[in-house]
Amino acid sequence: NYMEKYANRAKYGGRAMVTILPGDGIGPEMVSYVRKLFKAGGFPVDFEEVTLDSMHEDHENMNEAITSILRNGAAIKGNIETREHSKFFLSRNVELRLRLDLFVNVIHCKSQPGLITRHKDIDIVLIRQNTEGEYSCLEHESVSGVVESLKIVTREKTEQVARYAFDYARKQGRKRLTCVHKANIMKMADGLFLKVCTEIAKQYPDIEFNNMIIDNCSMQLVSNPNQFDVLLLPNLYGNILTNIACGLVGGPGITSGRNYGLKHAVFETGTRNTGKKVAGKNIANPIAMINASADLLEYLKLDDHAEIVRNAIWKAINVEKLHTLDMGGSTGTAEIMDFIVDEVKSQTQLKAYT
Ligand code: ADP
Ligand code: MG
Repeated sequence: NYMEKYANRAKYGGRAMVTILPGDGIGPEMVSYVRKLFKAGGFPVDFEEVTLDSMHEDHENMNEAITSILRNGAAIKGNIETREHSKFFLSRNVELRLRLDLFVNVIHCKSQPGLITRHKDIDIVLIRQNTEGEYSCLEHESVSGVVESLKIVTREKTEQVARYAFDYARKQGRKRLTCVHKANIMKMADGLFLKVCTEIAKQYPDIEFNNMIIDNCSMQLVSNPNQFDVLLLPNLYGNILTNIACGLVGGPGITSGRNYGLKHAVFETGTRNTGKKVAGKNIANPIAMINASADLLEYLKLDDHAEIVRNAIWKAINVEKLHTLDMGGSTGTAEIMDFIVDEVKSQTQLKAYT
């Protein structure tokens, strides 16, 4: 796997260095819990914090963040609010993904038996092209009252994300991959996406391949989600369907999202919310960010530590039923985190003595 081969992970004295971008809203709260957790578990990870939020609007911070991520190879981030009157044309989140060429976003939506949701036993991986399509940020007003927005689809980037998706499916033992598109209307743009994905599919005869139009797929996803295994998505449809899928398995506070470039990765929550309204009230659900921190540990090849974190999350949600407001409970953010931290502490000590 080329990403494993080229992945750049900074190590100093056997410890990994990771960039941390707190962001806005609940971001700073969430990443501080990650720090606390890693410290309690004695995980061999140090953090380099770069302030990148809507209050610090200068290019220096963005350049610093990018230099830091390129040097360290990995980052964990809170979402940055895009203010309407920002002097920047690009959302800072989008700018970061474009400049780092984080070409793929991977989100694994899995039902938690301890959560009451409309559908049970969902287990879908959504693989989204993360840098082009409608997010190319090429818009202009040609004459007053007429705006053109360019949706860029390239063979190169589509092949890259399609290969990633099929390799992923194969490696994870998944059976079926569905390409989502609107090629009946956007015959050229989505047509190319579908054509390239169909070509790549021929190189993976062991993975069953089909395609579905985005509108039908949206309906199928909310009415019969269990039919899906892996979804391969262009950028904007990916944004929408990942949010639907995260909603189906418990909302914005549960699922994490992984963004990969060739040599570096950025970990965050799946739905990329800032959660302004729930910030600083001890009610935000920390699980999505803690899941992101487990993704980060896996990327750093600290699989044992990742497993300890995942087990603690599982126990909190499904055994102890520690649920925040959004999960239908009344447990505070700090209380869930106390449980997870204690659990990680005791499991890490157990491991050390066995
Ligand atoms: P806002 O920025 O206006 O707070 P977002 O778009 O960031 O809203 O989030 C969408 C919705 O999801 C909001 O209702 C927000 O409160 C909720 N939300 C986002 N993240 C979390 C979380 N971690 N825990 C609980 N609720 C959340
Ligand atoms: Mg928001």
